Amino acid sequence: MNASTGEARKSPRFARIRQAVVGWIYPPLCAACESPLSASRQVEVPFLCEPCEAALTPIGDHYCRVCGQGFDGVSSLPFRCSNCGDRELAIDFAVSAFRGAGAGKGLVHRFKYAKERHLARLFGVLLDEVWRDERLRDAGSWWVVPVPLHRRRQRERGFNQSHELARELVLRAPEGVELSLRSLLRRTSERERQARLDRKERLVNLSEAFAPVRRLPGTPAGGARILLIDDVITTGTTVSECAAVLREAMEIDRIAAVSVLRG
Ligand SMILES: [Zn+2]
Ligand SMILES: [Zn+2]
Repeated sequence: MNASTGEARKSPRFARIRQAVVGWIYPPLCAACESPLSASRQVEVPFLCEPCEAALTPIGDHYCRVCGQGFDGVSSLPFRCSNCGDRELAIDFAVSAFRGAGAGKGLVHRFKYAKERHLARLFGVLLDEVWRDERLRDAGSWWVVPVPLHRRRQRERGFNQSHELARELVLRAPEGVELSLRSLLRRTSERERQARLDRKERLVNLSEAFAPVRRLPGTPAGGARILLIDDVITTGTTVSECAAVLREAMEIDRIAAVSVLRG
């Protein structure tokens, strides 16, 4: 973790109390290698030992200003990469914390498929990395919108991982940034998708998988600033579809996306 992410860690006292409670239920072991963690380590970076943290590759400062893909190199001049250069994305930009290859993938896998919901706290800490992007800090306030999960899958898993991450992000908002969690999107049902097929011409570029919730809040003056959140962004298609649906449904100032991993 670098110095700029340190300031995002607020209220160590709160973190300690929370850890004391959670420690009863989940012994502080590294989620990657199962080695025991000291109490102070568990507060600082829960469920991840130092060597395993070092095995993660931060995106760093050299990344595409649109899709967030990280590249090797030291230049921090803004650029748009060739992977997304010819694509129309409905998000303004995406920022991820770590590269998807390697240790991060296994952690996300445990979180989602082994249903280790408590790992959300670890990902909350790892997400501090995204605040290196000044566009996220300069906006001042955001509505944090989780990418919704299919109802059936959410029932199986017991939680929506993006919603858990959104909660952690809001809890750890850096100073000067106001975040509020808003679930503005839902997955559409099979029947709705059938109905939409009949009026497809109006819905070019609009996702058939997502729709706004039925009761959207009033849009703030100047338009909503939306921060979509997902565990992994790969091509950016999912967050872009979510953004397109929201742009159609409400007045938008800007829409960005953040994720723990960039696949
Ligand atoms: Zn470890
Ligand atoms: Zn790109």
